[in-house]
Amino acid sequence: MIVIMKINASQKAIDRVQREIEKLGYVPRPAPGETRTLVGVMGAKPLRGKQHLQALPEVSDVLEISTPYKLASREWHPQDTIVKVGSTSIGGNQVAVIAGPCSIESYDQTKEVGLAVKAAGGHFLRGGAFKPRTSPYSFQGLGVEGLKIIKQVGTEVDLPTVVEVTDTEVLEVTAEYTDMLQIGTRNMQNFTLLKAAARTQKPILLKRGMSATVKETILAAEYILNEGNEDVVLCERGIRTFVDHTRNTLDVSAIPAFNRLTHLPVIVDPSHAAGKRHKVLPLALAGVAAGAHGVMVEVHPNPAMALSDGPQQLVPADFQELIDRIRLVAKAVGKNLD
Ligand code: PEP
Ligand code: MN
Repeated sequence: MIVIMKINASQKAIDRVQREIEKLGYVPRPAPGETRTLVGVMGAKPLRGKQHLQALPEVSDVLEISTPYKLASREWHPQDTIVKVGSTSIGGNQVAVIAGPCSIESYDQTKEVGLAVKAAGGHFLRGGAFKPRTSPYSFQGLGVEGLKIIKQVGTEVDLPTVVEVTDTEVLEVTAEYTDMLQIGTRNMQNFTLLKAAARTQKPILLKRGMSATVKETILAAEYILNEGNEDVVLCERGIRTFVDHTRNTLDVSAIPAFNRLTHLPVIVDPSHAAGKRHKVLPLALAGVAAGAHGVMVEVHPNPAMALSDGPQQLVPADFQELIDRIRLVAKAVGKNLD
């Protein structure tokens, strides 16, 4: 439920509403607005007390939120959220570009990509230090050494960094070395990790589970919001389907669905959807055309020698073309890529 206070309701009245919500066994979550304060009524119990709250002085109305997610819903938060990461941001009318290697392999490799991403106009440097690989015999990432490399390169090329956190064991160290935490498709419903990552107060890039519905994805984001961390960006990265011409099927239609149902920004990852380099550009453009607030792509100086995901990584020259083309599509849909 949401309690809508009257315009310019006094702090005393807002405090009283919060106390009454607590007495009913719920947790109040006030959200001050320009003229009115909303107070969310959070909790797992079946809803009761609506009429009681409605009758309190300076309460204008009490609405029930019709969706299973509350804080992520447009009913609770009608305006688009813009997530700040250092001096840059994701959301609104800007298209953000996150790029970098699948895995951090060495300082030289990461530096070469970092310089290329910066020179082409990208906004974030990504790279995996702990890799969630399907096979235990595949390259598992450089671990803490990789975190140190991306932090150093991010500072040198002046780009904020995005690194996946694979479990709670490595959460603290990953949060220490990176600006934004990524939670990968295999962990979208790892609720312990979602809550612990939220409590670091770092911005979180939450990838859609490869067989998760739009509703399940927003509910996963709700876990993060419910811990008091509002800086969540969703990522459509392709889902498992029956097709075999592509690694995953990019669910372009999920992007307008997310934009309608939630205020959180949504970006598109065409690299993990496509699995093949030649599909990355068209899928990136499709994502932006469909309303994505950003794009995340993998870039490697020598994909043939990459330790993971070589076939889908772009070389720096292709990345430059990608960003130039995204800029045109962004303009066509009323956005900018600066
Ligand atoms: C990644 O971005 O490095 C990654 C492993 O992606 P996903 O979780 O979407 O497979
Ligand atoms: Mn990858």
